[in-house]
Amino acid sequence: MSRTSPALGQRAVWRAPGRVNLIGEHTDYNDGFALPFAIPAGVTAAVTSRPDETLLISSIQVQSTAEISMPDLAPGAVTGWAAYPAGVVWALAELAGERPGVHIHVDGDVPLGAGLSSSAALICSVASALNELWQLGLSPAELVAITRRAENDFVGAPTGGLDQLASLMCTRGHALLLDLRAGTADQVPMELAAADLAILVTDTREQHSHAHGGYAERRAACLESARLLGVDALRDIDITTLPEAERRLADPVLIRVTRHVVTENARVLETVELLRAGRVEAIGPLLDASHNSLRDDFAVSTPKLDAAVDAARTAGALGSRMTGGGFGGSTITLGRSGDVPAIEAAIARSYAHHGYRPPRSWAVQPAQGAARVD
Ligand code: ADP
Ligand code: MG
Repeated sequence: MSRTSPALGQRAVWRAPGRVNLIGEHTDYNDGFALPFAIPAGVTAAVTSRPDETLLISSIQVQSTAEISMPDLAPGAVTGWAAYPAGVVWALAELAGERPGVHIHVDGDVPLGAGLSSSAALICSVASALNELWQLGLSPAELVAITRRAENDFVGAPTGGLDQLASLMCTRGHALLLDLRAGTADQVPMELAAADLAILVTDTREQHSHAHGGYAERRAACLESARLLGVDALRDIDITTLPEAERRLADPVLIRVTRHVVTENARVLETVELLRAGRVEAIGPLLDASHNSLRDDFAVSTPKLDAAVDAARTAGALGSRMTGGGFGGSTITLGRSGDVPAIEAAIARSYAHHGYRPPRSWAVQPAQGAARVD
């Protein structure tokens, strides 16, 4: 056991937020661009060192508590929701050596499985709190690597690092431009309130799942297109070389997925230009085009996502799109602050009309990433 272990009973508390992706969907594994921002909802993790070797994990949101001896931690040893925090402990112990026991207690208000990344909020709050408790001094980039290892190798969810980057690095009033090839993350001002705008996040209550084969299929199709086109990733195709790429790809499915990724990367960069020019209200058409591309070309939208987007547009939204990987989850709608209640009501009416379960909506402003709680 490490001699630098903190005094018994020492405690660290960190809160990390969920996120939505403003634009840039299914571009991450194509070495492309994404533009997430943190939402006000998040998970708070309180970690307390224990006098023994026991790892105890509890959550206000879930009844079950997990308990395991630290030396027994290995992939598969903890299942269910507690695998997320346990995976973080496991990955940190691998990096920094074995530690004494700890009690991890979490409390959050990000809806689970709504595509708002409650999982990233959970693992990032836990990783940040342990980083402080164990005085590891890990940078956000190192914490992303840890949380990714926890989610991929311990929980078994094949996710990239995008959600964790957003949860750890976003700042209030900004979106975060991620260049997944360069590995850079740049703050892009997005002052919605000052422009009298808001983004309405709508949870369709249709749970997305990583187990859904659609995600793996789309990913494989993108890799196959890149291989056929002789490039490292679809990032290497741009709007000017797209027509030529489409001619070379005979398969209509490969043509469509390629078109989505290439046009989506271009839309991210256009959105960033508009935001940097202070023209937030002008990004609406890009949000609309992103949704249409995900619906028609990438084929990852669902009737519930489409119904929310259509209702929002009809009710005067400046732009609306599904956000996240698709097959359920949430939509985002940009609107004038004064129009947001009517847009929310229109979405609810549409769901009632279709006989869908009532959706849940929240007006959000870009919020702060992971932060210590005093
Ligand atoms: P999303 O990240 O879109 O919410 P995921 O399926 O990736 O959906 O992650 C959701 C899972 O994260 C939940 O099923 C649960 O295991 C875990 N989780 C998230 N927040 C909490 C919490 N507050 N308490 C317990 N488990 C949580
Ligand atoms: Mg998740």
